Amino acid sequence: MTKKIIIAIDGHSSCGKSTMAKQLAKEIGYVYVDTGAMYRAVTLYAMQKGLYPDSGIKEAELKAAIDAGKIQIGFKFNPETGRPDTYLNGQKVENEIRQMDVSNRVSPIAALPFVRALLTEQQQAMGREKGIVMDGRDIGTAVFPQAELKVFVTATAKVRAQRRYDELMGKAQTQEEKDALNFEEILKNVEERDYIDSHREVAPLRKADDALVLDNSELTREEQSAWLLERYKKIVG
Ligand code: C5P
Repeated sequence: MTKKIIIAIDGHSSCGKSTMAKQLAKEIGYVYVDTGAMYRAVTLYAMQKGLYPDSGIKEAELKAAIDAGKIQIGFKFNPETGRPDTYLNGQKVENEIRQMDVSNRVSPIAALPFVRALLTEQQQAMGREKGIVMDGRDIGTAVFPQAELKVFVTATAKVRAQRRYDELMGKAQTQEEKDALNFEEILKNVEERDYIDSHREVAPLRKADDALVLDNSELTREEQSAWLLERYKKIVG
């Protein structure tokens, strides 16, 4: 039997990490975990409970909710889309967590040490049996520094914003939703998240020393997937 490994895919916002991670997991029969969705779900919880007004995060209340176990995050495979959906306290929130209002608030939530501690512990538990592809910002540096394959993905901010714009446009159901999309706003969000994610104190976004770098600005999805599969095969032999 082929040995099972941990595959850590980190990188900047909207650089197609999740697409390639998901694709690889499917091909090799691994579990795929989108850790960004977990930070997004905590953000959605804070917004729903009024813990993230414009004046700032109500940290003490959010921490109390976490300590009391009031934020349960899970994934369930959706056979229709072939991808896992994110659940917050039993409710499917896959669409809600991808909206711009969550994107605009997630990085400050993800910078809070008690939020990172909670989610890091859950992510490590998910990888105990190996056979996992996890994508995020700190998987190769903080969650699984021992991962056998680490990839750091990047692309220019403009390319990433365009991809995000196209993705949101594809998902928009009504003309109103389409009209609400603004490329400049998305670009600003991508750049702001890059900055906050790279400058926070706990587990900032950075390339692990032993990670392979993939700049996919000029690559198609197929080329990226082939590149990643090749790297995986090299390791498992
Ligand atoms: O991957 P995605 O863009 O959905 O992640 C949303 C946000 O969650 C990131 O901008 C980052 O602030 C945070 N995040 C993180 N650590 C991870 C995954 C995501 O801080 N491992």
